[in-house]
Amino acid sequence: MATTEGHKRHLPGRVIGVSKDVHGAVALRMAMQTREQHIRRERATSNICTAQVLLAVIAGAYGVYHGPQGLTQIARRVHTATAVLAAGVRGAGHEVETSAAFDTIAVKVSGGAASLQARCDAEGINLRPIDDARVGVTLDETVTTEDLRALLRVFGAEGVDLDGIDFEGAVAIPKGLERSSEFMTHPVFHQHHGEHEMLRYLKRLENKDISLTHSMIALGSCTMKLNATSEMDPVTWPEFGKLHPFVPLEQAQGYTAMFDRLEAWLADITGFDAVSLQPNAGAQGEYTGLMVIRAYHRSRGDAERNICLIPVSAHGTNPASAVMAGMKVVVVACDDAGNIDVNDLREKAAKHADKLAAVMVTYPSTHGVFETSISEICTIVHDHGGQVYLDGANMNAQVGLCRPGDYGADVCHLNLHKTFCIPHGGGGPGMGPIGVVSHLAGFLPGHPVVDIGGEQSIGPVSAAPYGSASILPISYMYIAMMGSEGLTEATRHAILCANYMAKRIGEHYPILYRGASGRVAHEFIVDLRPFKATAGIEAEDVAKRLMDYGFHAPTMSFPVAGTLMIEPTESESKAELDRFCDTMIAIRKEIAEVEAGRLPKDDNPLKNAPHTANTVTADSWDHPYSREQAAFGLPWVRDAKIWPAVGRIDNAYGDRHLICSCPPMEAYEG
Ligand SMILES: *Cc1c(COP(=O)(O)O)cnc(C)c1O
Repeated sequence: MATTEGHKRHLPGRVIGVSKDVHGAVALRMAMQTREQHIRRERATSNICTAQVLLAVIAGAYGVYHGPQGLTQIARRVHTATAVLAAGVRGAGHEVETSAAFDTIAVKVSGGAASLQARCDAEGINLRPIDDARVGVTLDETVTTEDLRALLRVFGAEGVDLDGIDFEGAVAIPKGLERSSEFMTHPVFHQHHGEHEMLRYLKRLENKDISLTHSMIALGSCTMKLNATSEMDPVTWPEFGKLHPFVPLEQAQGYTAMFDRLEAWLADITGFDAVSLQPNAGAQGEYTGLMVIRAYHRSRGDAERNICLIPVSAHGTNPASAVMAGMKVVVVACDDAGNIDVNDLREKAAKHADKLAAVMVTYPSTHGVFETSISEICTIVHDHGGQVYLDGANMNAQVGLCRPGDYGADVCHLNLHKTFCIPHGGGGPGMGPIGVVSHLAGFLPGHPVVDIGGEQSIGPVSAAPYGSASILPISYMYIAMMGSEGLTEATRHAILCANYMAKRIGEHYPILYRGASGRVAHEFIVDLRPFKATAGIEAEDVAKRLMDYGFHAPTMSFPVAGTLMIEPTESESKAELDRFCDTMIAIRKEIAEVEAGRLPKDDNPLKNAPHTANTVTADSWDHPYSREQAAFGLPWVRDAKIWPAVGRIDNAYGDRHLICSCPPMEAYEG
């Protein structure tokens, strides 16, 4: 979606703007980050975190490959095919109700819509039923002459001579709506039209990316785990990838079996009675779960229950979702150990007892701690008439060991793109199904076309009945191949790996929170705030310096500003965990050099990170540390060096340049 300048700060999702680095090189960067939920919380304009980014990238690449001329040609072909179809159908005695059309027509069938069914079945074609009299047909650029002939046969127009058909004006784009201005004038849409060019362009982009193909990505709360090839493979099968979400159910029996089994497995894993696969991401699961809770309260005459208790430690999507669901957020404090302050919760639950709708709680908490008071928290909220929403993003620390349904939650979402292996680097697509206890099952999302959901359904939350169904085979394969023992072992391993890293890194940095046992859950927070005073070093400096060592930074400044949150998952070898720990320790030594005054606070490997190939190979080098230290901080970095594409980025400049202007072609040819 696009908007005018005036509304830019209200746009949901991610806006990639143009910035520059310290050397003046152009860099693309996510702009206006301060309007995101993690900062704005209940004042955020959107709760969207994981989105459909990969799909947007595919669409962008389609534009890059075809360019404006290619797209126009494709559009002409689609429109011409639609006009031919309309003329043929009309010639066979049906009424084409659409006169202004691009690719879609509505046909009033002379013998009624049902009269086409036998021929549709014979040709293997599904038409969209509109009502008893009418059907809808949409063509796209994949339509062949053979497809057109088959469609014409369905409408009894088989005699039509395709070459001789007079389709002029059969359907048309109204003159006033035709585009005359130029579009897609950026050079990128004019440079990569051959397959070789396109391949190299995509590869060059890929080369700028530190991904799981290079090293572990320890993004706390994001659970960046292995996306196994055998899990991913079925996504490419046409039986999954080429099915329209609204095909008649008898054509989608494989999908139906997969949905049924997956729902049963997820219900078993979470300890709930019913599961909806409709939400497309965790935050959409939050919204859906809260709408279900709201509908439940209303069904009992409790329409005034609209208060949602949310601890300060919550993920930013929680308060944003609560507001979207029409609730009022009341913040609950945390104690010094990072746990929910149970007394504060009890007080606020009592104070708002008449209006209490829900609590949103994350377990283990985003502080990386199994809070021992979790059952008590659930009981307190229930005693005051509220429902418990459990943010299940940290399910990777629970699968097989404990179940939200058992310790008192009423509804929880799962991030299948975290715990259940759907890849989400770059931001999606994801899947955020919710599980609910039996008294909420009747309110689960429904759908106007496909008959699903409870009797008192809240209605649909996604356009498709099962969300991003085509990526569900990944989670299905993961669960099927791991089995209950394997899944439980994975959870144990994830917790073990986090504790191993917390132990090693904890000998060099403060670890912010630990549980009652002195251990962490599946993730932990490294506190970098003390180095501001001792060395002028901030979390961003450490995050950027990690790039020089070939690592993607862990989650920064969430849920606590000035910290890094590390989550290793079960997928990494001990050697890889050690590589990351060794890097953090090497960086700590660099900080110590600054603390000891051997390196200046404003000119050291951290402040100047990341170091590009340009900087390190330039004829002049006037820093008080060596080029070798800048680029190859540890011996193994040499073997796997990833050169950062740009140096330190100017954040403020980026926020003022939200879209790229289109430089003239000559700028690129130069
Ligand atoms: C990732 C995450 C969410 C949001 O999930 P999305 O799939 O990104 O919408 C919510 N809560 C926590 C704790 C998370 O880590």
